[in-house]
Amino acid sequence: MASDYSDILEKAYQRTKALNDEGKLATYIPELANVDPDMFGIHMTTTEGLELGNGNYLEKFSLQSIVKVLTLTLAYKILGEKIWGRVGVEPSGTKFDSLILLETNHGIPRNPFENSGAIVICDILISNLNDANKDFLAFVRELSNLPDLNYSEKIASSEKAGGYRNVAMCNFIKSFGNIENDPTEVLDFYFNICSLEMNCQQLAQTFTFLANGGRKLSDQKEIISPSQSKRINALMLTCGFYDESGEFAFKVGLPGKSGVGGGIVALYPHNYAIAVWSPKLNPKGNSYKGMKFLEELTTYSELTIF
Ligand code: GLN
Repeated sequence: MASDYSDILEKAYQRTKALNDEGKLATYIPELANVDPDMFGIHMTTTEGLELGNGNYLEKFSLQSIVKVLTLTLAYKILGEKIWGRVGVEPSGTKFDSLILLETNHGIPRNPFENSGAIVICDILISNLNDANKDFLAFVRELSNLPDLNYSEKIASSEKAGGYRNVAMCNFIKSFGNIENDPTEVLDFYFNICSLEMNCQQLAQTFTFLANGGRKLSDQKEIISPSQSKRINALMLTCGFYDESGEFAFKVGLPGKSGVGGGIVALYPHNYAIAVWSPKLNPKGNSYKGMKFLEELTTYSELTIF
């Protein structure tokens, strides 16, 4: 299987690399526009422990919305099923930073991966942890085996300086009573979580717990239950790419999550987690080449959850 994957990855990598990149860098977070637009890296970690990387897979990038899977994981672990009283499990069919459905849904975000849902999850963590910034970081450090991981002050403050939509969103949700804490505190935490950086290898390794029934691969420690792990995967499949989630399921056929830093992580349960990074984004805010690469990967491997 290992050599199968390595041939497939090489082929998908080379074909995608040769494509004309029609994407554009995210500029609404000024710091994200400072990256080299030609970066392209991929890394797969299999549940058997094989590591396969190519291109710029050891360069760090801003995880942005990919981290929303990890905040959800911690909040779900703490709150259990009660969490779904605060945030829904339906695709939104709207852009990641849309406010439109919050009015009709009385401040209950459609799912935990659009910005509004992730902001509510941040509020839940602040209410349930002693020090959300410190405790969440400790959780991710342990999960990823990266004891030196830190929030990027530069990226968080760059986003904060122009984060008007997220500020509006948080205050709007608060007006419906679905934010318990001070909106400024919630937003500071939200900007911090989005600012975490990893490279493709670290990201793929971190997400193997969702390909391994909720258990961390390196020591088999239970992070969340198998049922919770399946449910998070279901949400990644249906909501991980905002208004392009249907397209991702259609063309790639795996649970996954994107971020405006140009990263995507996807996983094939009981087989592998894979991370890809290429900073230029398509009009839906997902990595142009990242989407193409994963489509090639599952086409050549003929393995999807379907
Ligand atoms: N921090 C970004 C924002 O709130 C995350 C968006 C994303 O990655 N889709 O706009």
